[in-house]
Amino acid sequence: MKTGSLLILPGDGIGPEVMDEVCRIIDWFESKRNIQFDKSFDLVGGAAFDQYKTPLSDATLAKANEVDAILLGAVGGPKYDKLDFSLKPERGLLRLRKELDLYSNLRPAQCFDALSEYSSLKSEIVSGLDIMIVRELSSGSYFGEPRGIKNKENGERYAINTTYYSENEIRRVARSAFEIAAKRTGKVCSMEKANVMEVGVLWREVVQDIKDNEFPQIELTHMYADAGAMQLVRWPKQFDVIVTDNLFGDLLSDCAAMLTGSLGMLPSASLGNKNANGKLKAMYEPVHGSAPDISGKGLANPIACILSFSMALRYTFDCKREADILDKSVEKVLRNGIRTADLLQKKNKKPASTSEVCDEIIRELELAN
Ligand code: NAD
Repeated sequence: MKTGSLLILPGDGIGPEVMDEVCRIIDWFESKRNIQFDKSFDLVGGAAFDQYKTPLSDATLAKANEVDAILLGAVGGPKYDKLDFSLKPERGLLRLRKELDLYSNLRPAQCFDALSEYSSLKSEIVSGLDIMIVRELSSGSYFGEPRGIKNKENGERYAINTTYYSENEIRRVARSAFEIAAKRTGKVCSMEKANVMEVGVLWREVVQDIKDNEFPQIELTHMYADAGAMQLVRWPKQFDVIVTDNLFGDLLSDCAAMLTGSLGMLPSASLGNKNANGKLKAMYEPVHGSAPDISGKGLANPIACILSFSMALRYTFDCKREADILDKSVEKVLRNGIRTADLLQKKNKKPASTSEVCDEIIRELELAN
């Protein structure tokens, strides 16, 4: 019997709606497969502010530090727009990432065949696409010092940001990418700008060094990030895992995500160092926000959140077979034409509701079991 602990933070807006469906999927795995989760539930974001007057309470953070994985829905909403910056729902999410030191952000770009016509690229370029962007999340240009907008002696203003990476920061995200690749096809492409930036030179050296000394079985290539962006839209299927820094990863992961169509389809994971159980600290969440425009209407696509749970099965709980059957069930449902409104073109039939999509996924799980 496989076991693990899970902290479930539904959050705001459509967060609780899509998380309810994930909980039904979890229940199915617990009753039908040899796996059991020690689950706890808590509040984050606006929901936590309403209850605790803070977007993330210390008690919730302490719990988050103890569990094997956190599953988060989404945070935010217009009700909280006037709150002080430090109390905004998004601060709860950022505090979780920072306090748990989640430095490795995994953003898969997977194009289900049934949805290939939703991509801005030609169907044959994206159909069957399955790549993983590993973005360094805690350092680089967004955190480096010095930074700020300053004045020259003549009064003219100038702005400065610093791209900083220590060897250790590069090493740990490189290891994370190689470990992920070892669970996939074993291919990693590292992207930087070693042609014009010293940070890129060090990045390339350190990533190569980790591969040579610790992951000899991995096939590693290096590419300049601008060429990588071009290749991502030219022939994305040449890649499996891409590892890159915070700034380039921000751009490249958004670009890769749009190869696949809707925001309602995109899962993510953020990983850190090992916890007391020897598992990497981990938070799994859909890329989308709380979607206040559709919240409460049964319109939300639950697939991004369901695929985030699938990533937890694969990367935290070592349940590859369960993750595979869940991914395949989602694919089958899409192939059968069952979709929420965000995935329907006008000429198509009536959209399925959030829970109807989940009903169908569970039906496919039953058939695959
Ligand atoms: P959003 O992702 O919430 O919504 C953007 C658009 O995509 C909307 O039209 C929405 O209806 C649609 N959409 C998003 N998820 C969907 C789903 N699962 N199914 C169907 N349609 C979906 O982004 P936004 O509107 O810019 O932000 C709304 C709130 O969410 C803001 O408060 C923002 O700060 C917050 N936000 C939170 C997160 C997070 O929790 N990780 C991420 C982004 C935005």
